Parts: sequence; C-alpha cells; structure tokens
Amino acid sequence: MRLFRFGHPGQEQPGAVLPDGKRIDCSGFGEDWNEQFFETDGLSRLASWLEQQGPTADEVPQGVRLGPPVGRPSKIVCIGLNYRDHAKETGAELPAEPVIFFKSTTAIVGPNDDVLIPPSSTKSDWEVELAVVVGNTLSYADQATATKGIAGYCLHNDLSEREFQLERCGQWVKGKSCNTFAPLGPELVTPDELPDPLHLDMWLTVNGEMLQKSNTRELFFDVPTILSSVSQYMTLLPGDVISTGTPAGVGLGLDPPRFLKAGDVMELSIEGLGTQRQTACSSD
Ligand code: ZN
Repeated sequence: MRLFRFGHPGQEQPGAVLPDGKRIDCSGFGEDWNEQFFETDGLSRLASWLEQQGPTADEVPQGVRLGPPVGRPSKIVCIGLNYRDHAKETGAELPAEPVIFFKSTTAIVGPNDDVLIPPSSTKSDWEVELAVVVGNTLSYADQATATKGIAGYCLHNDLSEREFQLERCGQWVKGKSCNTFAPLGPELVTPDELPDPLHLDMWLTVNGEMLQKSNTRELFFDVPTILSSVSQYMTLLPGDVISTGTPAGVGLGLDPPRFLKAGDVMELSIEGLGTQRQTACSSD
C-alpha cells in the first residue's frame, strides 16, 4: 500500500493510492495514519476497507497540499555516518555500531512545504535519506523481529544546521530540530511494494545541480541492524520514524562548503518513494 496525508497543516486527512494509481480520500475509514493505527494492525484493516470502499471513494484533487504521511510520531531517531562516502567527506571513522541522535518531532512538515532557515543561521544544509516507519512496538528486538516490525518506508530530508550541530556545545539534536527541518513523504510505502529497500537509487539537487547521488546499497548498517540496535537503548513505538543516514554531497562536505540561502530550491528522491521539492525561505 501507499499511504499519504493531505490538506492544511495540522488538519491533514488520510489518503491512499489504489493499484490503478488513483489517489483516494480515506476520511471514511475514520482513522489517521498514526501510532494507534499501526499499533492496532491498521494496515490490514485498511487493506480490507480499500478493497470494499476504494473504488467508490472520492478522488483527491491534483495540486492539493501533501502533509507528512504519518501523524506526529513519538520520536524521530536518526542514524549518523551510515554511508561510507559521507563518513569520509566529514573526516569521521565508520562507527562500530550505529550512531544515533534525536530530531524533534516538531520539525516535521510535508514533502513540498517551504523550509525556514532559522534566524541567525548561516550553515543550513540538506541530507537525502531513507526513513523507516515502525509498525510494531520493538524492545530488545533481534533482526528478524525488527524486520517484521517495519510498517513502511518514506523519503526524508534530514535538514541540519551545522553550526548549531557542531559548534554550540552538546548534542547534534540542536542542529537537527529547527522548525521545518524534517520534510517527510510524499508517501509511506509498505514493504510489499518495496521488496529490495537496499538497492534504491537516491539523489538530491539544489537549484537543479546534482549534489547527492547514491544508492541505498552504500548503507553501512542495514535497516534490520539499525532497528535492532536502536531497540536495545529505547522502546520503539508504532509510527516512530527512523532515518537511516545520508550519502556524500552535503553542503558541509563540499570544498568550499556551501549552505542554503533564501530562494534555493531543493529536490530529492529515492526510487519507489517519490520526490520532494522545498524552497528555502528566510524566517525573518
Ligand atoms: Zn542525517
């Protein structure tokens, strides 16, 4: 299945894409795509509903704003330095186990919403990433259990303010959590539609210039390893978003480094997960 959410920020309605490509309004199903939905096997219930009600449900108009494809999760956990080429460009060693950090859930926006450059920011940067949405509660999960606990995948731009992240004392979370710094979507794609998530082309352009171009086969730690590892340190809840790291080509790694300025347009995509497009705006 391919799920999305649409409408005004904070008032999104649930939607799904039918096998024929038609995008339908799932308001009649009566649930949002959130923790409670995933926790109560909502994906199975939705599949039955779509079979019966899908063909007669209202179509979602073209051009409507898309929100993030999941309702606000309990947490976003990100993985750092997980692509060999990105670790190299930042001068870091590949870690012995996944490096994890948090990103505030208030940073989440839709896939094509404007990105606000924070006041006083001079080092706002981009990161195309494969994000995983958790389907089951995972605690001390082995890799097989973790694999069964995947609800689906979505595209994520893990925007990062490098000065806040690296020069302001403390954890990376400072540079990762600014408002609008987590565009998610356009769709949550379930594993049956994405049988080989570790062979997906991915790219990101700024103003049309290709800056990140890689494939998820370059991931150092794969998705089951990541979920199992994170679940040794905290309980993952249904709907939680785990972002798996970015390949080379971020602004910090360029020579000389380059960062976002107002008016810049980022476009990014991962094979099978759709495309995002954001314009960077001054928050003044
Ligand atoms: Zn990242």
